[in-house]
Amino acid sequence: MKTAKCLCGKVSIEVTEFHSEVGACHCSMCRRWGSGPLLTVEAGSGESVTINGEDFVSRYRSSEWAERGFCSNCGSNLFYHLVVNDSYNIPIDLFEDQAEATLEVEVYYDQKPAYYEFANETKKLTEADIMKMVQQQFFDESK
Ligand SMILES: [Zn+2]
Ligand SMILES: [Zn+2]
Repeated sequence: MKTAKCLCGKVSIEVTEFHSEVGACHCSMCRRWGSGPLLTVEAGSGESVTINGEDFVSRYRSSEWAERGFCSNCGSNLFYHLVVNDSYNIPIDLFEDQAEATLEVEVYYDQKPAYYEFANETKKLTEADIMKMVQQQFFDESK
């Protein structure tokens, strides 16, 4: 189990299903939300995530399929929650223990502004690539 914590410590999130592969999202919404690309790890469904300090968790419904959580006391971004399949992505920097973390994938690479570039070797996916994957995962009944 690993624990994520906001800046002020009012909210902590216990994760039993920690994945060490970090994904960076360059989409314009994430960048506006977090003042930079959003670097998260997958944390499984609500069943593997325990949120302590729920009173300080504000949820913003950023789209039809997802909500974004943040601490109402210190403003730390806490999670990106895909409501459609109840899956949590948690910023890697909320975890103290990052020993195993590796940056593996960059998504919405086509929305990345020109002023920065990660030197890591990563898999890079554009919006079109992602839409294709979503289509195959959720709508292709032959699979
Ligand atoms: Zn806080
Ligand atoms: Zn994003």
